[in-house]
Amino acid sequence: MAFTRSYGPRDLDEQIRERLVAGKLPGNPHARYSTAAGDGQLCVCCDRAIADFSLQYDVEWPGDAMVRLIGMHRACFQCWRDIATELGSETSDGAEV
Ligand SMILES: [Zn+2]
Repeated sequence: MAFTRSYGPRDLDEQIRERLVAGKLPGNPHARYSTAAGDGQLCVCCDRAIADFSLQYDVEWPGDAMVRLIGMHRACFQCWRDIATELGSETSDGAEV
């Protein structure tokens, strides 16, 4: 592949894409989020713990009854947002509110 992303290994890209398609990650790239020091929870994108020396992105994921807060690494967040944007522009699946 000639096209290389600058912010993560290819595996991560694929993993996040699969989870997005499967509905395991929010499809809206404009979801609200906040950042904080990692608290050791597992990243929803790569299943690795987010250590306290790295920045954790908490993304709001509105559901039917409540808003879930899902934590990701910074690199994962950027990758997720990029792919969600890409998928959202390819399909009309729920990205528009
Ligand atoms: Zn991660």
